[in-house]
Amino acid sequence: MNSTTSILTDTHGRKHSYLRISLSEKCNLRCTYCMPHDGIPLSPRSHLMTADEIETFAKVFVDHGVTKIRLTGGEPLVRKDFTAILARLAKLPVKLSITTNALLTHRFIEDFKRYGLHDINVSLDSLNAEKFKFITRRDQYKKAFENIEQLIQEGFNVKVNAVLMKNFNEDEIVDFINLTKARAINVRFIEFMPFDGNAWNKEKLVSQAEVLNRVTDHFGVEALQPLPNEKNFTARNFKIEGFQGTFGIISSVTNPFCDSCNRIRLTADGKLKNCLFSNEETNLLKPFREGEKLEDLIDAALNAKKAVRAGMTDFDQLTNPDLHSNNRSMIAIGG
Ligand code: SAM
Repeated sequence: MNSTTSILTDTHGRKHSYLRISLSEKCNLRCTYCMPHDGIPLSPRSHLMTADEIETFAKVFVDHGVTKIRLTGGEPLVRKDFTAILARLAKLPVKLSITTNALLTHRFIEDFKRYGLHDINVSLDSLNAEKFKFITRRDQYKKAFENIEQLIQEGFNVKVNAVLMKNFNEDEIVDFINLTKARAINVRFIEFMPFDGNAWNKEKLVSQAEVLNRVTDHFGVEALQPLPNEKNFTARNFKIEGFQGTFGIISSVTNPFCDSCNRIRLTADGKLKNCLFSNEETNLLKPFREGEKLEDLIDAALNAKKAVRAGMTDFDQLTNPDLHSNNRSMIAIGG
């Protein structure tokens, strides 16, 4: 690093201003594509970042150019000291957001408001209670949907994320988009990604073209309005004419957005991942506890970031299980 370059700029010139922090490896759902069937070995508590460490780490990242922090997990709201962590992060000059399954959001409405957390992404893969139960292995659809409605009514900026999987929920694409008719939300269809133990298979992918075909078959070609891409976008966004909300397609597998990537991830056990698809992690927590300087470790991790999807430049590499089988499942990385 020279003195004019931030430690958060990688060798490809990308500035990383968006940090996702996983607060917990635990979750109150068991989504089949996220959590391996037999669960994951949980880290001993002493190996997880404390609230103090999360604050210290976040401050270093913010000092070096991070302007947005997303809290995730596991399920971030199962962490007992969630509000204490939120209160600490709210002191930093950073935009706070969260990704949650919404099952516990009713308990935190006032905390979110008090500490300025306005952007809430909720994961919901089906609008059918039976299918929800099948994919999450928990019978909690009613609570999840009620809480999403509450968040909208309370004025939060809500995005609903649905992972699309063939023969599971691609027949619900129109139902999901109909949610945006009278609700000013953004529904995002996410491509199913390969992780350790999640039975990924490229036949289960639903492509952007398939989504758009279903949309135009139902609503008509003229009703589909493409929206301009946002800076550092991950979703290609659209709107149905006359609808209050919008919808987007996140095609990280078939059509990645690595050129504009500004994201880095910190796992609950204090490891930095420079790319979601990378098998490699940089342990920040252990060396930090031994007195090493965080800046040097972060700089090295960013310099190792590959131009495209952890070096897997073509689709065949990505679909080769040998190349991603060491990548922890999403529950452990923090989605
Ligand atoms: N518990 C929270 C939730 O449910 O939103 C936060 C963590 S969850 C791991 C974050 C996001 O990762 C969710 O939107 C989930 O759908 C997504 N995710 C997990 N595994 C995935 C996979 N294999 N492919 C695509 N998205 C995945």
